[in-house]
Amino acid sequence: MTLQLTTSVKYLKGVGPKRAEALARLGVRTVGDLLYHTPHRYLDATTITPLARAQVGSEVSCVGRVVRTGILPTRRGLRVFRAVLQDESGLLECGWPGQPFLERAIKVGQLLLVTGPVRYYHGRQLVPREFIVLADKDEAGPDRGLVLPVYPATEGLSHKQIRLLVHQHLDALLALVDDPHPPALRQRLGVPALAAALAAVHRPETVAAAEAGRRRLAFDEFFDQQLVQARARFLAKRARAGIRFELKRELTTRLKEHLPFELTADQRRAIREITEDMTAPQRMHRLLMGDVGTGKTVVALFAMLLAAENGFQAAVMAPTELLAEQHEDTLSRLLAPLAIRPELLVGRLSPLEKAQARERIAGGGARLVVGTHALIQEAVRFHHLGLAVIDEQHRFGVEQRAALAEKGDAPDVLLLTATPIPRSLALTLYGDLDVTPLRERPPGRGTVKTALRTETARRKIYEFVRGECAAGRQAYVIYPVIEESERADLKAATTMAATLEKIFPELRLGLVHGRMKPEERDAVMRAFRDNRVQILVATTVIEVGIDVPNATVMLIEHAERFGLAQLHQLRGRVGRGAAASHCILLSDVPEAAPRLQAFTETTDGFAIAELDLKERGMGELAGARQSGGVPLRWADFARDLDLLEAARRAAKEIIDADPSLTRPQHAAYRTRILQRYERGFELFRVG
Ligand code: ADP
Ligand code: MG
Repeated sequence: MTLQLTTSVKYLKGVGPKRAEALARLGVRTVGDLLYHTPHRYLDATTITPLARAQVGSEVSCVGRVVRTGILPTRRGLRVFRAVLQDESGLLECGWPGQPFLERAIKVGQLLLVTGPVRYYHGRQLVPREFIVLADKDEAGPDRGLVLPVYPATEGLSHKQIRLLVHQHLDALLALVDDPHPPALRQRLGVPALAAALAAVHRPETVAAAEAGRRRLAFDEFFDQQLVQARARFLAKRARAGIRFELKRELTTRLKEHLPFELTADQRRAIREITEDMTAPQRMHRLLMGDVGTGKTVVALFAMLLAAENGFQAAVMAPTELLAEQHEDTLSRLLAPLAIRPELLVGRLSPLEKAQARERIAGGGARLVVGTHALIQEAVRFHHLGLAVIDEQHRFGVEQRAALAEKGDAPDVLLLTATPIPRSLALTLYGDLDVTPLRERPPGRGTVKTALRTETARRKIYEFVRGECAAGRQAYVIYPVIEESERADLKAATTMAATLEKIFPELRLGLVHGRMKPEERDAVMRAFRDNRVQILVATTVIEVGIDVPNATVMLIEHAERFGLAQLHQLRGRVGRGAAASHCILLSDVPEAAPRLQAFTETTDGFAIAELDLKERGMGELAGARQSGGVPLRWADFARDLDLLEAARRAAKEIIDADPSLTRPQHAAYRTRILQRYERGFELFRVG
């Protein structure tokens, strides 16, 4: 039988039925699976501590031969398995409390790798968190100086057995590998050939070589994913028949003439992109991604007026009443010279007011509509909805966003978000969306100075806040609430608010937190907006998008507990008026100082988004760990953003030229996608 990558692993020498079963538990069924069962980490000589140098209080990885084992009862009746290891440097005792059964697994003569903390217990003792048998008695260990790959293992199949199995067959398996990418593409991207990458991953000479191999595998993952997405976009564009608005230059032109400010270059570019979308026959599906204060609303307003001058209605949906009111306010102001009044539909209107608003919406008299979830209630019918704008789009569920669009007949959709993320990532997360970034801030805003301070400065900070408020300004004081200890934190924040009331008897304080009813919270926020409250203590991230230009101080307690992106959102609450503003980070955690210091030195939301992503990894961005149902195994969004961008470009080029991947040189891509992606078939079936 000739070996192929699809051959069942049980035909490999050294794999019996039992092992085949264990391998299947690891997801390894074919020899190809085995080839792609790559190490999850590497141990390299530079990370191994000689036994004699393992210091109490440190965390180490050591390798040594077992020279003695035994079980010792402790005074408290716990039985401790002990093994003494030896290397050229000396001896070290390892102890596994409560695990006497290890006697059967760890034997004198074995070469053992152990990692864990070293403590003092009648001398130095390492308490392994993990151990790996590298070699049995009389067996040579892995070559010295070499990088040792560590494989994901399972019961009945140890790391070492997997390593031996892979290495025994590696050359034969590598000979079966075909690289789907032409050399020119690989060269341009600077990634190794596929077989070389797999060889480097399994049998690296240096950790850097293994990493270069991993990056190639990561690239392929991104590339497949991006091919699928490019294809999905291609199909979606074709299928998305929508309204073809005409550029009448009536309302839009009049708005431009009457704007009290100059649009930024970014705003003009965004308006141009949106106009192109709206005047094209396909439906618009665009995300406008701009930091707080970059002026998204006015961009959206141009789109709304383009719809209106074509005889259509346009609607904006915001996640809270306060934000909806704010939009109504902004729109009313900007539209006053045009004699257009936006219609507001929110929950707090009286039943009569609501009914009247609904009537104007259904009759078409209301051309521009602003509201909350109230807009998507069943009773609301639009006369002729041509554009749906969704502010803070991530605050809505998929169905809610769709529900607004369904109030019209295939209206264009514009999504707004103040949470910038790197472009390539946005393209991955938001699949079929087109993305317009807005980076530039309108001129004429006061600057925001950011400072990092410790507890010792508290008094001074309070005096500073007092001074600002005495000058008529307002301040935010933010207190973190983390989920695990929500109760205790909430108490701390409430206590904090009480303390502040005593410190600032001359000022009015308000407190908002996540456990309040939305109406209560809105009431406090309104009071702050109207300057009836001067200091707002907030435990939860206060409303993104809230615009109180008179607030000039943002004091953040326990700043180390916030992610950088969150800090940036908070900082965006100030600096919205002409006066100079201050963001003060209070933190007494020295380890957090470098990242907080870095934060004080930049105000670019996109740069911060990248830092934040690197810091947190992808955990919080749902859906990012996988795409099209296929989890990412080698790629890491934070580390490999450059690869993602390169993969996106390469995939787009290919789909642009050959949308169905029918050219012979693309056959391998097509095959891979049909095999790996559930949606693959559905996407490539049609020509
Ligand atoms: P965000 O992007 O955070 O939603 P908004 O759209 O609420 O920002 O705009 C914030 C404020 O900036 C508004 O009061 C708006 O009128 C004003 N603004 C928008 N664009 C400009 C500009 N180009 N120049 C000056 N002020 C602007
Ligand atoms: Mg906004």
